[in-house]
Amino acid sequence: MTRLLLRNFREVPDVALSASGIRIRSADGREVIDGSGGAAVACLGHAHPAVLEAIRRQIEKVCYVHTGFYVGEPVEALAEHLVGHEPGGLTHAYFVSSGSEGVETAIKLARQYALETGQPQREHVIGRRQSYHGNTLGALGAGGNLVRRPPYAPILPQASSHVSPCYPYREQRAGEDDAAYVKRLADELEAEFQRIGPNRVMAFIAEPVVGATLGCQAALPGYFKAVREICDRHGALLILDEVMCGLGRTGTLHAWEQEGVAPDIQVIAKGLGGGYQPIGGILAAGRVVEAIRAGSGIHRHGHTYAAHPVACAAALAVQQVIHEENLVEQVAIRGRQLETALKRRLGQHPNVGDIRGRGLFWAMELVEDRETKTPFAPELGMNGRVKLATYARGLACYPVGGTIDGVRGDHVLLAPPYITTEDEIETIADLMAAGIDDAVKGLP
Ligand code: PLP
Repeated sequence: MTRLLLRNFREVPDVALSASGIRIRSADGREVIDGSGGAAVACLGHAHPAVLEAIRRQIEKVCYVHTGFYVGEPVEALAEHLVGHEPGGLTHAYFVSSGSEGVETAIKLARQYALETGQPQREHVIGRRQSYHGNTLGALGAGGNLVRRPPYAPILPQASSHVSPCYPYREQRAGEDDAAYVKRLADELEAEFQRIGPNRVMAFIAEPVVGATLGCQAALPGYFKAVREICDRHGALLILDEVMCGLGRTGTLHAWEQEGVAPDIQVIAKGLGGGYQPIGGILAAGRVVEAIRAGSGIHRHGHTYAAHPVACAAALAVQQVIHEENLVEQVAIRGRQLETALKRRLGQHPNVGDIRGRGLFWAMELVEDRETKTPFAPELGMNGRVKLATYARGLACYPVGGTIDGVRGDHVLLAPPYITTEDEIETIADLMAAGIDDAVKGLP
């Protein structure tokens, strides 16, 4: 009997004994390709010597100090690395231990910005349906996750509401061109601002490329420009959650670079520390920081492990390797290869409705019928079946979405490490395609 509790109270997965590069070895003697970097985390793969060395050096110097007294050496250096060149006007960084904590920090910073600028009535966050911003109550409230939200709905902060995501595969109407669809979504957001009261909204939050709930869904061109314009017009902040899609994953360092707009607050996490240490954070625009600095000077927020020295040392090493080895460019190149490889094998597959993504961030939407886009029955748990079938062949992929409460979409996600080679990309696509076939054959 295990005394360990994980998400599934009835099962404990294989014990991972060692991992290096893009492979993980478990206690049952199996070796598996980490095709999704866990949940799009292991951007450098495993056991990168430069990161291990940075962690070792920091542990020997200072493992932990509280930010009420000290800050560890690598913390300032990490902030400088990320925002020293002020990308998109983002000038400051704040580090926490996870993506959810980053989202909480972003929401509370937006609220405090409202207070410090004399707008105490701004207390509402608009998010999007089928988005995921984390599991803590504030983040869960801002998100629209169909599985994780419902049990806690009664205890979530009520000052949030949701508009439609940009989801062309299912929600763009027949005959509606991209510009008209983007306009329809912008009109819906504008209407939501009007419904809440435009001067009551403190922020709009969205993932530039939706990960865990919509399977690598980027917005159509012009969508984020329209969103930015609406936020600016009504004095609300734009929070972009790049926990999953940020720091190189989509082929640019920040996913927003491909949208031509920058956020007021950006949330980062997974690709920040690459899983070597638990770390997340926010990058904030100068005007937000300066308003608080000129006002109370204190962000009424904080966590015991904020700006953890070892986590920041690991993240700094990860970011330096990404920079020095030109891995963002590499992601763009390997990403195009992965796209081609997946579309070649699965582009006409009767049970793959859509293949979408950017960089090394790709998902397949699984359907019972490709022509009608009919989803699989929810009780089949198709994304979980594909995960198991693919794992049996030696590839870990990440099941996301699901068909729940009439909302459709079973997806499996691939997010291989940035160091994945050309041959390994082909192997990943082969295993993915074979895993989907096995899962379909195994249906009752
Ligand atoms: N935001 C996004 C976009 C995510 O994908 C996730 C996790 O998957 C989170 C926030 C929450 O991050 P964490 O699980 O580190 O708390």
